[in-house]
Amino acid sequence: MKISPDFHDWELTVSTEHPDLVTPLVDVDPLHIANAMRVVLGHLQPTRDFAGQVTTLSFIRYAELNAAAGSKPTSSHLLGLAADYRPSEISALDLFESFQRMDVPGATWDKLNLYTGSRPYIHVAFRPVEEGQGRLRIYRDWELLNG
Ligand SMILES: [Zn+2]
Repeated sequence: MKISPDFHDWELTVSTEHPDLVTPLVDVDPLHIANAMRVVLGHLQPTRDFAGQVTTLSFIRYAELNAAAGSKPTSSHLLGLAADYRPSEISALDLFESFQRMDVPGATWDKLNLYTGSRPYIHVAFRPVEEGQGRLRIYRDWELLNG
């Protein structure tokens, strides 16, 4: 099922690294789906519109999958507030620099991190809605570059 012009429901729980540990969508907390939809509509779809195809690598993760991913128990992925993705048509670095210049129309976030390395990708996280607007913080390998 499509959940935005270019994203499908299965992407909310996808894991390219640990597909065996994915929680079926029917077992996902509806609040976490609502959170994830904010990330889709407020970031991933605008990024797709700007940069072309985007591969969702990891999104909502529950405890076992989150631990397998080497992530902390406080990870925003556990609440559906974070996604990892890689653009297909431009490099992750080029896209990252576009975010730094605030060149991607309609795209927002709280924290955006570029993971460098042999296959760079981007982690985007939103805050819970009650905590207010995203702070547009930008990190490279979790070194804060602004703010
Ligand atoms: Zn992540």
